[in-house]
Amino acid sequence: MHTSKAAVAVSATAGKAATIIGIILIVFTLPFLIFFIYDRHAEGAMAALFVFIIPFLALGVFLVIRGNKIKHRIKRFRNYVALISVRNITSINELASHTAKDVAFVTMDLQKMIGKKFFKNAALDLSSNRIHIGAGSSSVQINTMPNTSLPITAYECRNCGARRANNNQFCDYCGSLWV
Ligand SMILES: [Zn+2]
Repeated sequence: MHTSKAAVAVSATAGKAATIIGIILIVFTLPFLIFFIYDRHAEGAMAALFVFIIPFLALGVFLVIRGNKIKHRIKRFRNYVALISVRNITSINELASHTAKDVAFVTMDLQKMIGKKFFKNAALDLSSNRIHIGAGSSSVQINTMPNTSLPITAYECRNCGARRANNNQFCDYCGSLWV
């Protein structure tokens, strides 16, 4: 159940890798694209364009867009965590007004983040339009040692920025180990 690395941290690494690989692909293929478009009648120019250059360039653009999308999703996640854990805002309507997005977008966004395990232990209550954090924490929590022996060394999650509210071993928001 518990992984040492939180999904949001894994996603951040994947997003950065996608951006870097995408930029490398664009930087390496763009000069060839310009060269072959300029010199279309060079031998094998068309084959090189369609077999090698355009597909790699397209892949590069796709990866950069993807990396950017992931980066923005993580930024929104940390923003939601800050609003929920620090300012105690759990109403989706209020989250929407604080993030200048519409309610439908925030609902979908939170659902996706729960699905992607960014939020380890959260549930959306669509009848009251609220997000609940740590609903099942007492049953999920592993108590290998008594709570009193767990020193509180951090008050803010290094991974998602959530404020610490209890002695759980793992962050209620992203599931990473408190260190
Ligand atoms: Zn966290």
